[in-house]
Amino acid sequence: MERPHALVLPLPLQGHVIPLLELSNRLVERGFKVTFVNTELNHARITSAMSNSSCDMNQIHFVTVPDGIEEGDDPSDLVRKREGLRRVLPASLEELIKKSNMVEDHKFTCFIVDVFMASTLDVAKKAGLHTVIFYPGGLGTLLIGSSIPKLIADGIIDEQGEVKTKGKFQINLEMPSMETADLPWQCFPDVKTKHHMFKFSLNVGTTINTEELILCNSFFGLENGKSILPPNILLIGPLLANQELKKPKGYLWEENTSCITWLDKQLPNSVIYIAFGSYTMFDHCQFEELALGLELSDKRFLWVVRPGLSRDEDVGFLARFRSRVEGRGMIVRWAPQQQVLAHCSIACFMSHCGWNSTLEGLANGVPFLCWPYFADQFISQGYICDIWKTGLRMNLDGNKVVSRKEIKRKVEELMGDEEMKIRAMQLKARADKSVNKGGHSFENFNCFVSRMNTSVH
Ligand code: UDP
Repeated sequence: MERPHALVLPLPLQGHVIPLLELSNRLVERGFKVTFVNTELNHARITSAMSNSSCDMNQIHFVTVPDGIEEGDDPSDLVRKREGLRRVLPASLEELIKKSNMVEDHKFTCFIVDVFMASTLDVAKKAGLHTVIFYPGGLGTLLIGSSIPKLIADGIIDEQGEVKTKGKFQINLEMPSMETADLPWQCFPDVKTKHHMFKFSLNVGTTINTEELILCNSFFGLENGKSILPPNILLIGPLLANQELKKPKGYLWEENTSCITWLDKQLPNSVIYIAFGSYTMFDHCQFEELALGLELSDKRFLWVVRPGLSRDEDVGFLARFRSRVEGRGMIVRWAPQQQVLAHCSIACFMSHCGWNSTLEGLANGVPFLCWPYFADQFISQGYICDIWKTGLRMNLDGNKVVSRKEIKRKVEELMGDEEMKIRAMQLKARADKSVNKGGHSFENFNCFVSRMNTSVH
C-alpha cells in the first residue's frame, strides 16, 4: 500500500522550524514519509548545531532551497526575507516535485506549508498535491486577521491598518481586550514592514473563510470554548517533543545540555528561567538592567543569552556579572527549552511570550513573567495575564526600561503567589487532556492523518 509522503515547508525562522519539524516527527510515527524543506543557510546551521547531539536525523528527508537573500541584505529584515523566498521558491518547489515524481514510491502526496509561505500553494495545487496550511501562532492572532474588516467598519483602523481610534478594544468575549498599539502589525516602526504585515494578517484572515485546511498549534478551550470555529481549522496542539525520543528538533544554535545537570542540583520550584526566543534584541541599557535585576532578586536563575540578544554586547560586563552570580545563576547561549520548562526546579518563566514559548510554558504548568517585544507577543501576554491568570506583566518605567526593581518586585510577587501556580497546573492538565488519547487535539490529529491517508488511495 502506498504511504503518504508530505512535503513540508516552514518559514525559515526558529519559531516556525521547531513546531513544523515536530509535526513532521509525528507524521513519521504515523507511517508518513516526510521531506522537510530548509533554506541552505538554515540547513547548514541546523546540521552544525546537531553535530554533537544524539538525535536521529535520518527518519526525515531534508532538502534545501536557496535563501533568496542577496548580497547586502539585512538578515533580520523579515520583508526582504519573505520577498526573496517568494522569488526563488516556486521554481525550486516545482523542481523538487518533478524530481520526486521520477523516483518510484517517492511521489509527494501532500504539501504542508507554513502560513507565511502560503504564496507557494499554487505550485503544489498545480502538481495535484493535497494542500494544508500550518499556522504556527495562536488562534487569537488568526481571529484578529479575520476580524480586520470589522475593525475597519468600526472605525478602529483604516484600510492600511493604521489606527484611527486609539484605545482598548475586544474582538470577542473570550479574547483579552487589547490596545490598538498592540495590534500585531503596529509594532513595526518602518511603514513598509507595517503595511506588509497588515496585508499578511488580512490575507491570513481571508484564508479562514476558504476551504483550505488549517492546522493550528493550539488546543480547544485554550483561546476559544464557546465560539464555533470554521470547520477547516483543526487545533492539534500543543506540539511538544517527546524528550525521550531522540528526534531532530531543528535548533539553529547548539543546545547546552549541561544546564539540565545544573537544574538537577537545584531545589524544586526555585529557579527563574529567562529566555526571549530567537529574535528579540535588547539595547545595552535594558540588557544590563535585566542582569542587575536578576542579581538583585537573589533567586537562582537560568538565563539564555543567545548570540545577538544584546545589540551592542559588552563582553566585559557579562563576564563580571557571571563571576558575581556564580553558583546561583547559569547563563547559556541556547537551552533545550522544552526540557528546561518540564524540569521540577523551574519556578517561573520570564518570557517574551512568543507563541511557542507560551505553549511550552503553559503545557508544563509554569507561571510567566511577561516581557513581550513585538508582533503577536502582546496578545499572548493578554491571554496569560488577563484570561488564564497565570502570569504577571513586567512594566516599563518612565525611561521605557523594565527596571531592576521592577524585576525583583515581580519575581517575588509571582514566586509567592500559590494561586497562580495552581491555575498554571490546571492549564497544564487541560493541555495534557487535549493531546492524550480521546482529547480534542488527539482526535483532530487522527482526523487529519486519515484525511491524508484517504487522499492517497
Ligand atoms: N528555544 C530553545 N532554546 C532557547 C530559546 C528558545 O529551544 O534557549 C526555542 C523555544 O523552545 C521555542 C522557540 O525556540 O520553541 C522560540 O519560539 P517562540 O515562538 O517562543 O519565539 P520566537 O523565536 O519565534 O520569537
